[in-house]
Amino acid sequence: MKTIQEREAELNVTHKHIIAGTMRDIDTDSESEFYNKRTVQIQCQTPNCKSKRRIATSDLHQVHNCEQCVRRERLARRRQARAERSAAKKAAKEAAQAVTQE
Ligand SMILES: [Zn+2]
Repeated sequence: MKTIQEREAELNVTHKHIIAGTMRDIDTDSESEFYNKRTVQIQCQTPNCKSKRRIATSDLHQVHNCEQCVRRERLARRRQARAERSAAKKAAKEAAQAVTQE
């Protein structure tokens, strides 16, 4: 049986955003969002963001940012998609107008 320190050291090799000494062993609280999971704190990877976040070790490969940064990025992506959609719509409208004016 590995110690929690050994497990953390192993994961830290591939997941550099782990904050040393923050791993917790399997959560036995059935009310917890991390029930039956091992968790660790990560340092948000957004430049200049100092936030930390506790996540399940099983999510380490896909979670690299704090919740705030994830939310901000999601909003920015949506805004970008909306801008692209409306630009495409405008271009289509202008193309249609150009055809009728010929
Ligand atoms: Zn962040």
